[in-house]
Order: sequence, then structure tokens, then C-alpha cells
Amino acid sequence: MERKQVIAIEIALQTQVLKTCPVHRQLYFDDDVNPASAFALAIELVRKHKPYVEEFLNDEHELTDLLSHTLATAPACCSECQLPAGLGSLPKHGGLGERALEAMTGRSG
Ligand SMILES: [Zn+2]
Repeated sequence: MERKQVIAIEIALQTQVLKTCPVHRQLYFDDDVNPASAFALAIELVRKHKPYVEEFLNDEHELTDLLSHTLATAPACCSECQLPAGLGSLPKHGGLGERALEAMTGRSG
């Protein structure tokens, strides 16, 4: 994996936007967490010239682009167990209806 990609993933992990399945060590995207915090941290690190993000020197857009690509391609849960970590077998109620409503109200054109 590319070093830059690793940095983007680590930032997402730090802000808990990406999580790791404790069983399979697979990355997944937690959509309960606002990804804005990951972008804010990424921009802050680049602007403060942290050695950690030196590969993105003065180019926070490259990092935020990579971050958004990383989040977009991450699965919504561990691909091995197909469940977000920690939820066990508890079913979610009402999630689908809410999403359908959101999709409908979001598309007015
Ligand atoms: Zn798993």
C-alpha cells in the first residue's frame, strides 16, 4: 500500500470515521460518525507542517482528496463478518424507512 494512502487511512482511524473489525482486522466505514472530523484533522496536520504528513507538504487538497476516495471505497462493515463491530446480532429498526425518506426528500428535481 502506498505511504500516502496509509496516512489517509490512519487519519480516518484516529477520528474513528474508519474502524477496524476486532476479529478480522478489516477496515470499514462507520457512517454514524461525521467524516468532517477526519477532513478537519487532515487539513490541520498539513497546515501545521506535521512531519507525519510531510508527503502532502502544502497540499492539503491532495490529502483530503485521497481521504474522500479512501472513505468512498471502504465497505460499510467488515467484509468478513458483514456486521459493524460491537453490534453483535442486534437488528436495526427503522433504518431503511428513514433512508428511503431521506432519498425521496433529497431528490426534488
Ligand atoms: Zn469481521
